[in-house]
Amino acid sequence: MNITTSWVQIDPKSDFSIYNIPFGIFKRGTQIGAASALGNHVIDLDYLHSKGYFNSIQLPDGIFKHSTLNNFIGLGKSITNAVRNRIIALFTESNQELQSNKTDCANCLIKMTEIDMLMPVKVPNYTDFYSSIEHATNVGTMFRDPDNALLPNWRHIPVGYHGRPSSIIVSGTPIKRPKGQTKGPDAAVPSFGPTQRLDFELEMAFITNQNTNLGKSISTQEAEDYIFGFVLFNDWSARDIQVWEYVPLGPFLSKNFGSSVSPWIITLEALEYIKVESPTQDPKVLPYLEVSGKKNFNINLQVGIKPKGGQETIVSNSNFKYMYWNINQQLAHHTVNGCNVEVGDMYASGTISGPTEDSYGSMLELAWKGTKPIQMSDGTERRFINDNDTVIMRGYAEKDGIRVGFGEVKTLILPSD
Ligand code: CA
Repeated sequence: MNITTSWVQIDPKSDFSIYNIPFGIFKRGTQIGAASALGNHVIDLDYLHSKGYFNSIQLPDGIFKHSTLNNFIGLGKSITNAVRNRIIALFTESNQELQSNKTDCANCLIKMTEIDMLMPVKVPNYTDFYSSIEHATNVGTMFRDPDNALLPNWRHIPVGYHGRPSSIIVSGTPIKRPKGQTKGPDAAVPSFGPTQRLDFELEMAFITNQNTNLGKSISTQEAEDYIFGFVLFNDWSARDIQVWEYVPLGPFLSKNFGSSVSPWIITLEALEYIKVESPTQDPKVLPYLEVSGKKNFNINLQVGIKPKGGQETIVSNSNFKYMYWNINQQLAHHTVNGCNVEVGDMYASGTISGPTEDSYGSMLELAWKGTKPIQMSDGTERRFINDNDTVIMRGYAEKDGIRVGFGEVKTLILPSD
C-alpha cells in the first residue's frame, strides 16, 4: 500500500489515520449527525454533503442528518464505499478541492474535544457467539472437565445465543451494578443482591448492512457483502447470576443488563490490509462452513481497569486473529436455517482470549475463577470488577506504518442502589 498523507495534521499514532475513515454519530449542542474521524477531528458529513462534495454519488438528501447510521449503511456497499473513498480523496494532501476552501475546511472539521459520540446504529437484533477456542477451553476447564474442556459440538458449530439489543450502550455510558439471584450457601435456596462477580468480556462485533428475506441463507462466500464493519464490544457479565441461571437455556439476566460498544464503526474495507489466515480447523467443517483465503483480522486488543481517581492498569493484551470461527462462518451458520438479518444487527464474536495467561479476555480467566487475583498498580487486587472502576477496551491494527484503530470503549461501574 502506498503511504498517503493528509493536509490535516494527524499524529502517526492516531487510530484515525486517513486509511481508516470510520463512521459514527456525533452530537454538538443540539446538532446530531453522521461523522467520520481524522486524527483529533470529526468530519461533519452533512456539511460536506450540503456543499456538494458528494455530488458524484447517488445520496438521498439529508442522509447524514439522521440520529443513527442505519439508513446510510442500508444504502449498500457500492454507496458506502464510494463515500468513504471520496472522503479519503478530499482529505489527501495532493487534493485541493476542499483544502483550498478555508471556510468549508473550518466548518466541516470539528475538534473531538467539542463533541460527544452517540450510539452509531439502532440495533434491531443482537447475537453473541462463543468463537474463541482458548476462551471456550478455559471455561470448560474451570467448570467441567479439563480433559474434555470443549463440548462435542464446539468444533462443528460456531456456537451462539440471542442477546438483548435494548441494553447495548455507547462508550461513556455508566452501568449500575446489577442485582439478581445467585446460588446460596444451601444449593436449594438462592441468595439475592448485587452481583459479587461482575466481569467484562473482550469482544468485537460486526454489523450487517442489508435486510434479507426470511428463508434466505448467506453463504460464506457472500458474507462480506452483508457486513458493513466492526465495533469493540464489552459483553458485561455477572458470573454468580450466570452460574445459577444458565442451565438449561443459557445466559439471561447475567448478560442483558448492559453491553458497551465503541462509537466508531470501522469498515471491513479499512481492515482488508491486515487480514491473516485463520487457525486450522480440525476436524474439517461441513461444506456450508468452508472458506478460502484470509478471513481473520490481526487487530491488537487491550483491556485496562482504572479505579476512581487512580491509575489505569492494563490487565489483558489479546488479538482478534486468534478466533477459531471467522465472521464468514458465523454469518453463514446464523442464516443456514433461513433466519433473516437486518440493517444494524450486531454479531459479537464471543470473548477473545489468546493462548497466554496475559491475553485472556475476561476477569474470570485472568484471575482464574478468583484464585489468581490481578495486581493493580495502586497496590490493590482485582478478582472481578469493583464499584467505581472504569473498564477501558482498545483495539488497533498496524502494518507497514499504516494504523487503523477503533478508539476505545470505556464504561464506569456505579454502585447498586
Ligand atoms: Ca459473550
